Amino acid sequence: MEKRIAVLPGDGIGKEVVKGAIEVLQAVGERFGHQFHFEYGKIGGEAIDTVGTPLPDETVELCKQSDAVLLGAVGGPKWESQPVHLRPERGLLKIRKELNLYANLRPTTYFQSLADSSPLRKEVIENVDMLMVRELTGGLYFGKPSERIQQNGRDAVVDTLFYQRNEMERVIKLAFELAKSRTGKVTSVDKANVLESSRMWREVAEEIAKDYPEVELEHMLVDNAAMQLVRKPTQFDVIVTENLFGDILSDEASVLTGSLGMLPSASLSEAGPYLYEPIHGSAPDIEGRNLANPLATILSAAMMLRLSFNMNEEAEAIEQAVSQVLEAGYRTGDIMAFGKHQVSTTEMVEQVKATL
Ligand code: ATP
Ligand code: MG
Repeated sequence: MEKRIAVLPGDGIGKEVVKGAIEVLQAVGERFGHQFHFEYGKIGGEAIDTVGTPLPDETVELCKQSDAVLLGAVGGPKWESQPVHLRPERGLLKIRKELNLYANLRPTTYFQSLADSSPLRKEVIENVDMLMVRELTGGLYFGKPSERIQQNGRDAVVDTLFYQRNEMERVIKLAFELAKSRTGKVTSVDKANVLESSRMWREVAEEIAKDYPEVELEHMLVDNAAMQLVRKPTQFDVIVTENLFGDILSDEASVLTGSLGMLPSASLSEAGPYLYEPIHGSAPDIEGRNLANPLATILSAAMMLRLSFNMNEEAEAIEQAVSQVLEAGYRTGDIMAFGKHQVSTTEMVEQVKATL
């Protein structure tokens, strides 16, 4: 197959880890007979410095004409005191909006050889394999009004939690679709004992479940879900929830297996292209030193192969290679442990390619 991939390395270690992931994609392409065309676009601080805006129109166009987008990370101390419209993070919000990315997917996978870097005991974290699906377009983040007001002469404030039914439907349906190819369980997280929006969410989940008799649906209140994630994470398969709950729970889920440098993500739209990126940021403290862990981005590339190109075998080959490299004891600094071999970003990439 032939595919066009828009590559937005961004800032800091974004450039280093994206370079590694592309080399791995090229190696997979060679092995399986695919042609991946990589076309580069600017985003974030680099775009601000060179063209004066965090997301130039050319980058948006490039992404829209591609089959998938691979993003590194944006931001850094250099741009922190800029006015809001000149912040690198604006570029990220804008590309999500431009591509209509409505669902953010974050898998949390257990790597046996990294059990030591988890804050949880091995018996608790062992065999965790879950997928958090977070709604991205609605909820408290975008509801209007959101402002300071005066009420009876006193300072007050209002934020609005607004959802359209169809926004709930599409993300919950996606969760069920994804559950079909997994163990077949969806946990829908809400606060239905308090919020009207959650009662509609639950209603929608029940309706959609009727179309998926092979998938089990469970409802869980968000406070309980936060607790269950650390108490017994293996009970979860696919978790689906609205924007704010998902923001909080996905960060919680991301520490279960240890390192930020290991975790991939995908953001999906209705028509594509989808966007893939590591969950970590630009890590300015280790920028340019060949220290960054490239595996989160490499695993994001694997998600791209599976979700955008339907290349399951190819995706698995990458995931297997990553597992084996860890198994063999190779570690970047963030996942380093006693008795292992510490390697640089580029050495880690070489190991993955060699194992492929
Ligand atoms: P952002 O605001 O962009 O999320 P942040 O400061 O919250 O950025 P990161 O940039 O992800 O978070 O970095 C947090 C810490 O984790 C840093 O100290 C960084 O060195 C470390 N870190 C993040 N990603 C990696 C990686 N891929 N490899 C090694 N260390 C990493
Ligand atoms: Mg952060």
